[in-house]
Amino acid sequence: MLNGSGHLSARIPGTETFLINPRFAGVLADPKDICTVTFDGKRIAGKGPIPSESPIHAAVYRARPDVGSVIHCHARYSILVGLLDQGLIPFNREARIFSDGVPVFHDSHGINSFDLANRMVENLGPHWATFLRGHGIVVAGPGIEGACVSAIQLERACQDQLLMMGVTELKPMTDAGRGRNQARLENPYRAWPFLLWKHKVKSKAQIRAGIRTLKEGEHY
Ligand SMILES: [Zn+2]
Repeated sequence: MLNGSGHLSARIPGTETFLINPRFAGVLADPKDICTVTFDGKRIAGKGPIPSESPIHAAVYRARPDVGSVIHCHARYSILVGLLDQGLIPFNREARIFSDGVPVFHDSHGINSFDLANRMVENLGPHWATFLRGHGIVVAGPGIEGACVSAIQLERACQDQLLMMGVTELKPMTDAGRGRNQARLENPYRAWPFLLWKHKVKSKAQIRAGIRTLKEGEHY
């Protein structure tokens, strides 16, 4: 999903800096390639160059202390739904964490200036994701795991919406259970280990050793 032109960042807690992959496909980056960037967009560590759309990340961190990680990518189905007048219709489980809305930012060619990035953040408001019309998405989360899983869920929700729109008229679900989904955004305990296994970052044994032990009667 994060194809060659996406970028992922993480706030360095307690500082006005963040970590971001350099200006090449994130999956090709090694830990030593990761750059440290200030909220003014200055690279202070790492070889770089940093992505031209780094202001997206800096502006979100500056405005939203609750955000610990930001993804920007050009996800195919999300771009298509971002072009619809009604935007995302949170009609299924995948979309529920976005039931409070995914605003569309219209002036969304490359967001490579702070002026544009600040306007995007204003449009984002308290939400966790925004469509950049015809361009891509920005998804935020309290941490890397939540941001990544949410971005994947948004893309799947958009794919499902496009599939179903050809068949029936979609209506949003009531937002019962939203608290639970909010918790999932903060602690995507099931999806994240699965993704690490799927992408061969960790072995099954390594993951199982790290999975929290559930007590009798507890469930996901
Ligand atoms: Zn972009």
